[in-house]
Formats: sequence, structure tokens, C-alpha cells
Amino acid sequence: MIRLTGTALRVGARTPLTLVLAVTGAVVVTLVGALAIPAGSGQRLYNDAAQLAAGALAAFVCLTAAREHRGLRSRWRTLLGFGLTGWTLARLWWVARDVLDPGRATGVGPADFGFLILPVCVFLALLAMSAALPRPVRASLPRDRVVLVIDSVLITGSLVALAWSALPHRVFREVGESPWAAGVAAAYPVADLVLIVMALLVLASRPTWRPARATLMLAVAGLVALGCSDTVRLLTLSTGTLTPLQATGYLLGPALLAVAALTNPGTAAPPAVDKLEADWLHLILPYVPVVATGIVIAVRTGAGGQLTSYEAYLGWLGLGLVVARQMFTIVDNTVLLARVSEGQERLHHQAYHDPLTGLANRALFRERLALALDSYRYQGLPVALIFADLDDFKLINDSFGHAIGDRLLRAIADRLRTCVGPADLVARLGGDEFAVLLEHRAGEADPIAEAMLAALRAPFELDGHTVAISASLGLVRPHLGERDLSADILLRRADAAMYASKRRGKNALVRYAGSADGGPNADLPHLLMRALAGSPADYGFEVHYQPIVHLADETVLAVEALARWNDPIAGPVDPEVFVTVAERAGLVAAIDDFVLDRACSDAAALAATYGRPIDVHVNVSAARLGQHGLAQGVLAALHRHDVPASRLVVEITETKRIPDLSRAVEVTETLRRHGVRVALDDFGSGYNALAQLHSLPIDIVKLDSSLTDVDVAPERAGALCRSVLTICADMGVAVIAEGIETRERAVDLAGLGCKLGQGYLFGQPRAVHRLVEVVPAQPGPDRGGAATSGRAPSPSGGGPAPSDAAAVPAGGGSAGSSSRSPAGTSARWRPPQGP
Ligand code: C2E
Ligand code: MG
Ligand code: MG
Repeated sequence: MIRLTGTALRVGARTPLTLVLAVTGAVVVTLVGALAIPAGSGQRLYNDAAQLAAGALAAFVCLTAAREHRGLRSRWRTLLGFGLTGWTLARLWWVARDVLDPGRATGVGPADFGFLILPVCVFLALLAMSAALPRPVRASLPRDRVVLVIDSVLITGSLVALAWSALPHRVFREVGESPWAAGVAAAYPVADLVLIVMALLVLASRPTWRPARATLMLAVAGLVALGCSDTVRLLTLSTGTLTPLQATGYLLGPALLAVAALTNPGTAAPPAVDKLEADWLHLILPYVPVVATGIVIAVRTGAGGQLTSYEAYLGWLGLGLVVARQMFTIVDNTVLLARVSEGQERLHHQAYHDPLTGLANRALFRERLALALDSYRYQGLPVALIFADLDDFKLINDSFGHAIGDRLLRAIADRLRTCVGPADLVARLGGDEFAVLLEHRAGEADPIAEAMLAALRAPFELDGHTVAISASLGLVRPHLGERDLSADILLRRADAAMYASKRRGKNALVRYAGSADGGPNADLPHLLMRALAGSPADYGFEVHYQPIVHLADETVLAVEALARWNDPIAGPVDPEVFVTVAERAGLVAAIDDFVLDRACSDAAALAATYGRPIDVHVNVSAARLGQHGLAQGVLAALHRHDVPASRLVVEITETKRIPDLSRAVEVTETLRRHGVRVALDDFGSGYNALAQLHSLPIDIVKLDSSLTDVDVAPERAGALCRSVLTICADMGVAVIAEGIETRERAVDLAGLGCKLGQGYLFGQPRAVHRLVEVVPAQPGPDRGGAATSGRAPSPSGGGPAPSDAAAVPAGGGSAGSSSRSPAGTSARWRPPQGP
């Protein structure tokens, strides 16, 4: 025997076995009653007692099963248990009467009210069950319940009406009892039918949660069994007792309801459902019998039949229910539509916004930009685009972690929002790139960009950390009369301007000027590739030279070779810009090689210009220092043009970090071993700082103009310059001050101990044939190479050896001997008279 205690109830997991046991039990009891017990009062007592036992057992099972569950799952089992208890107590009343009054009438009596407890409780249990099983489309629960009841009543009413019209009325007359008793007896099968329809509707409208199907199907089977016996009882009300076979439903019904309570569809939450699968069935199902009934009634009245007033009232009631049902459907649909449009809005927002900052994403930005350009094209409405890239954001992530990095991006987004108006669009295009589209206030783009720079400069307080950041900004507007611009072109231009800002030292705004004035040009990568793929000179590449002088007497000691590009299409392009673009495109080596080759081939012309061999400085991008073949390429160029290595100085322009420092040291040493000197360009800006001085074996340091700005903060700049000069002197490294534009600065720097300088004051970069120079009458024999010689003497011969490394006085700065002014020198550079 199965012990129906808590754990044993898990037998529910084996529903088929329980089902077989329940059905077999009911069949056996029925057969025993039918075959072994003689008809009459004994058989009636047997039937009632068996039903009493079945009801009691089923009630017990349901109530015990309810304790195994929580919430709604427990509630519907409890309700079922109560219903069965009421039903059992009514049976007990019958059994007592069977014993006390064996010859009693079998009609309707007070016990029937006990029986009616069961359908009421099953009704409530089904409502609880329907709430426990979510509908594919989530609707409001109360509305869902009301619709379920209306549907059940509508369908049942229609079915009853159909039965009423289809069955010969004699069948009902044969019931023979008083209308009251017939009504009560008829209430059972009608109630059973309502409940069966209800259970089937729940089954049909919740197709996605399969585990619950077995429970509902068993409940339906139980109700069908009860309904069959109830119907037979109604039809045999006048004839008396039911046979055991006719009363099987009263055994099977409770048994199947108990098995339904034992099923255990698992404790997992029902799956989240969002499909409309089979919901159409739920929508149209109630109307099928209504329509069928309508047709039958129409046919009947059409054939001359009359509707009784009851039938007419019921018809009106049915109509009212249909209208009510329709209202609920409309409300449901409205809610659904609202939800769909909400969902669409959410999807749209997700597709067009950056989840981290909530700003517009690249897709939305491009769309809005394209629309703005259309308005510009057809209505002339101005448009401006600001592109911002955070400077060294990677360092923030590396030092503070990605969580702080994310919070910083959010805080930056907030600050950028405050810089623009409600009609302007701020977007995060990806990583650390932001963009602003100004449609209505395009004329205010400049102050807005400045406000953005200022807003980002203020440090951010994040989780107790003070984080400082800056951004490089590119601003672009369509040029006058430029109507056919695409969003892509404008974005490329803004990007080019932003990179120009990076190249110029970051944390600044660069306006895109296009090709006309040498500013950033978005088509440059393409044009540059074309120019450098063939012969650069054919595409406007040339080399200009700028003198490097003794500050004491302004004698020219060397020249720096600087690339110039006057593209046939783009026009003259700023070197800062094309070098940046070349670095990004991996093309800078081609520029360096072109300049080196041209500088070597111009060596003779330079010597002729100055009346003596002169040193040439060429720039080499730091990114190339780690590459193989650099030293070999330099030596090959020298060899090709027969220029002594001692005449060449390679300036490392470190706009990018040296990728492999140990390899860079190797390359530098190889060059120096061959007599080529190495200079650290733009010292004090970008990546070229003290650390490089320590790691790289170099001969010369070129002080960036930002360090030598003695005019602005004389004391601090003076102290800084003096310190750097002392350090370099101690290390035996020569120093050249860059960017000297005024006589005052030249004098101040010379006063601080700086011997060598370069700047517009002494001459702008010019083509070799335009370096018209009054040559010093008698240049010192060692003047040329020695001036910028550092600590390494050139081993190579040829030309005046840079032998005065020894002449660099300890602590006295570079080129001490070179400061001697050559007799009768008039090598002073006259400031240029225009380009
Ligand atoms: P750089 O190597 O520091 O070159 C000096 C830059 O300062 C030149 O700019 C020169 O025109 C400018 N300059 C010289 N005197 C003054 C002055 O008194 N005031 C001001 N404001 N500027 C002065 P340029 O020619 O525009 O070159 C810019 C940079 O482009 C160079 O800086 C160098 O880093 C890079 N570059 C130029 N040619 C090449 C090249 O062939 N290869 C590589 N890798 N980089 C190059
Ligand atoms: Mg340079
Ligand atoms: Mg420089």
C-alpha cells in the first residue's frame, strides 16, 4: 500500500502508476458491485459506501499533496481537497440514510447542497491553477480570470442551448420530477460542463508550459467522469437508484482528481513566455459554439419554431456576455499594443544608444548626420561636427582598472552633455571616441568645442581617485559651396583634424581646413599612399633645410632636413599633418627614406652653399627604431652619395612610444659605431623625456620650444633649462634649443649656457637652392661636424672629423669650442622676406 505521507507523495512523479492503480481500483469496485451484490437497497448501500471511501481517500490525498507545495500550487490542491471533503460528507449523509432508512426516495434532497460544494471548489481551484500558469501573452490577472469565466459560461451556455434544441423535449419531460428537483439535478452536469470547458480553455491558452498539461488533462478526465454519472442521474431521476456501472463516474471522478493533485510538474518557475503561439485559438474558441447556436436557433425560428420567453432571456444574456467578452478583448488588445510599442521603443533605443553612457551610438549619429547634411544641401541649414578622442585613456584603464575607466566614460558623457544644447546630439562612437553634431548652433561650434576641452580638463573624482584626462578635438564644417558631402567624408575629416591635434601635442582643438591651407585633409591617406608608392618627388615631395646655428655668433653649423609636400590635388600639406597620417598608415618610413636620400644627394650643394661641408640632420620616426634594416638603410644612403657618416645626425622624433627599447638601443649603437650621430628630438614634449636620455646612447638633445620658453615664465623655464643643460653636459650630450623666434630668447638661452639653436630667427626651412647664405669667410677646419658632436667621435674618415668631442667642456654645455666666432663671420641668417 502506498503510504500517503509527505515523502511518499512524491509518487506523483510516477503519475502513470498512480493512474493505473486508481482506475483499476474504481473498475474492480464497480465490477464487484455489479456482479456480486444483488440489486436493491444493498447495492445502493454498497455504491454509496464505495463512493464515500473514494471521496474520503481523494480528499485526503489532495489535502496532503497541498502541504507538499507552496503558493497557488498548494491553494488549488487545498480547494480540491475541501470540495472533495464536502462531497464525501454529503455521501456520508446518504450512507447514514441508506442504513437508517433503506427504503427512502432517491430524489433530490438537502444533501445535494453538500455535493454542490465540489463544483464550487473545483471552479475556484481552476482559477487558482490558471493564475499559476502564465498565458503566452501576459495580461492582467483579474481580467484574465473574468474572461476565462465568461468564456466557460458562454461555451457551456451555447452547448446546453444546442443540446436543448437538438434533443427531443420528451427526454427532459421523462425526467418526471418536479421542476425544482430537475433543476437541481440538472445543475450538476451543467456545472461539470462549465468546469470541463474551463479546464480545456486553460489547457488551450497555456500551451507553452507542457508539464502542467498532465494535471489539467487528469482534472478534465475526472470532471468528465463525474459529469457522465451526473447526466445519467439527471436522466434517471424518476427511475430511482443508479446501477454500479452508471455510478462508476462517482468513483473515477474523485480518483482522477486525486491523481491530478499528485502530479508534480516540478518546482521550477514556469518558463518566461513571449510567443503568441495558439493565442488565436483562445481568442476565437468561445465564439465557435456561440455562432453554432445562433445558426441552429436561426434555422429553427426560420422553420416556424417559436422561442419561449426563457429562451429569449437566455439569448439576451448570451449576447450580453459576448459583448462583455468583446470589451475585455479590446482592453487586452490595447494593453498588448501599448506593450508592443513599448518593446519597439526599447529595441530602438538599444539599437541606437550606447549602453554604457546612454549617449547616441555611431549608427544614430551617422543617420542624424546624414539628415543634417540633407538639410544643409537643400535648405542651406548650417552643420558642424566636433570629434573628440580622449588622450591616453588606455593609461587610465591600466592604472585604475576598467571599472573606473567605465565610470570615467560615463562622467565624461555627463560633462559633454552640459556643453551642448538640447537640440544638439552627443554620441559615443566607440572606445574613447565621442562626437557632437551641431545643427542649430553650428555657428557656435568654436566656443562649444572650447567649452568641451575646458569641461574635460577639470579632474574627475571617482571612488576616491582623482583622475585627470584631456581630449584632442577635431572640428569640421562643410566648405563654402560644398554641397555634395557624405556623412563618411565629414567624419573622416573630423578624424583627420582630431589626429592633427594629437600630433600637435594633444589636449587641443584643430579645425579642419581642407587642402587649401595645408590643414588636415581627410583624403590624405589615399593621396599619401599614391605619392609614396611611386616616386615621391613626382607627387610634390621635396626637402627643405633649416639652419642650426651657434647662438654666440649665429654661424650655421648644420641644417635640419624637413619633408615638404605640395600634392598636385590636395595642395601644400602641413608636415605635422602628413607625418601623422603617414605614421598612422605605416608609411612614414617611405618619407624618412626619401628625405635621407635627398639630404645625402644635396650634401654637395649644401657644402657649396656654405662654402664647407656641413652636417645634415634627418628625422626618423621613433616607431621605426626597432625595425630591422634601418641602420643598413642609412649607411647605404650615405654610401650611395658618398657622404661621410660623420656628417649625418639622425633625429629621433618620438611622437609614438619606442616599441622595443632594447632593439632601439642596438640600432642606435650600430649607427654611432659607424660615425652617425643620434639626436633626441623635441626633448621635453611627447614621449622624449629623461627616461630616454637614460636608456638611449645619444649624442645630441634638441630642446623642445615649450621647454625653452623663457619669455613666459623666465624663472621657472630658466631653472629648467639650466638643469637640463647641466645634466646633458655631465653626460657629454650636446644641446640644441629649438623654436627660437626672437632675439630675446636667443640671448636668454645663450645666457643660460645653451650654445646651439634653431628657429625662424635664424632662418626658415627652405629648398637647397634658396638657402642663399653669406658664407663665412674662413670657417674653422673642424667647425662643421664638431659643433653638434656629442660624446662619440666618428670613427669614419672623410671630411672634417667630429673630433672635438673632447672640446665639449665638462659641465660647460655642448660644442664649447664651436662657440668661438670665426673670424670675420657674417654667417648670420637674415630673417626670411616672405615664403
Ligand atoms: P621637428 O623635427 O621638431 O622639426 C622642427 C619643426 O619646427 C619644423 O616644423 C620647423 O619648421 C619648425 N620650426 C623651426 N623653427 C621654428 C620656430 O622658430 N618657430 C616655430 N613655431 N616652428 C619652428 P615642420 O617642418 O612643420 O615639421 C614638423 C615636424 O614634422 C618635425 O618636427 C618632425 O617631427 C616632423 N617631420 C618633418 N619632416 C620629417 C621627416 O622627414 N621624417 C619624420 N619622421 N618626421 C618629419
Ligand atoms: Mg627634427
Ligand atoms: Mg624638433
